[in-house]
Amino acid sequence: MRHALCSVPTPETNEMASMNDYNTQQIEAIRMARQHLRGLPLVQIRWLRNRIRSYMKFRADVARFQGKHFADICSRKCFASQTSACCGREGIITFFADVVINILLSTDKEIDKLLETIERDTGGFNCVYLNESGCLWRVKPIVCEMFLCEHAKQNVLDGNHNLGQQWERLRRRERRYTWPNRPILFDDLEAFFIEAGFDSPLMYLHRSPGLLRLKAKHGLRTEKGT
Ligand code: SF4
Repeated sequence: MRHALCSVPTPETNEMASMNDYNTQQIEAIRMARQHLRGLPLVQIRWLRNRIRSYMKFRADVARFQGKHFADICSRKCFASQTSACCGREGIITFFADVVINILLSTDKEIDKLLETIERDTGGFNCVYLNESGCLWRVKPIVCEMFLCEHAKQNVLDGNHNLGQQWERLRRRERRYTWPNRPILFDDLEAFFIEAGFDSPLMYLHRSPGLLRLKAKHGLRTEKGT
């Protein structure tokens, strides 16, 4: 079953006809995640929060590493000069699971702000979610979290074997949640919504031919809803 929000034109989707595909997909995914999560009983919300616990511990470890070793260079090179080259327009992939995790941990006010910002988007060079105080996501997409520009890598990691190894360990941990050569959180969260009748172009673990091939190779289920 496809959910009504995915298939039936509504005033909201008509309004979005003039938006670009990227923004439309983002809005639809945020609305879907919010709608389904709002309707779930508390016991399922608790189950989901528990399900993402280890991932959030990983995210806290990455944030600590980034804060300790990159905050200074990033704020000097990009934020102060308002370059923010790593937050380029439509330059990031957001997984559906990124959206679900963020909505799960955001307040209603924060979610409203995300939606308002995309709906009022007037273009420009920066990511639609970037404002003067930084990224609007409470838990930003994993691709953003793990991105290091060449300048930052060269200045911080090159020539520092120990730090380079720490970063590689974090990258390996990331794959335990996002790389489907085994059952992973990002795939499971998509499946949770698909089983409830939702669908989104951001469900890459169920849509990307490359990721589907990888899942098949490792004996993971590849068909939607199975
Ligand atoms: S989602 Fe946030 S961190 Fe990622 S590119 Fe946009 S503003 Fe930057």
